[in-house]
Amino acid sequence: MFCPKCGEKVRDNAAVCSSCGCAMRQKNDAPPTYDTSRASGGKIFLSLMIPIVGIAFWFSSREKEPNAAKTYLMCGLISWGLAAMESFLLLGILLNP
Ligand SMILES: [Zn+2]
Repeated sequence: MFCPKCGEKVRDNAAVCSSCGCAMRQKNDAPPTYDTSRASGGKIFLSLMIPIVGIAFWFSSREKEPNAAKTYLMCGLISWGLAAMESFLLLGILLNP
């Protein structure tokens, strides 16, 4: 194979280019894995209803399904934010009649 930087021919299994020393990408490198996990509708709903559940889902699936986990966390935070806003509104109404 050839060095992507200087174009010099290097051994196929070379870790670095013998000419310029830049790191070579190994052919047998595992291809980048894309996280194709999808958040499930039921879990999203629960996360939106109960903030702590969304965070729990995020915690439990962040290793295996980072994509889905992010969605749960987002939903949990959104519902948390909404709940906080509602309580502030309520408090405001109660304190300033
Ligand atoms: Zn090179």
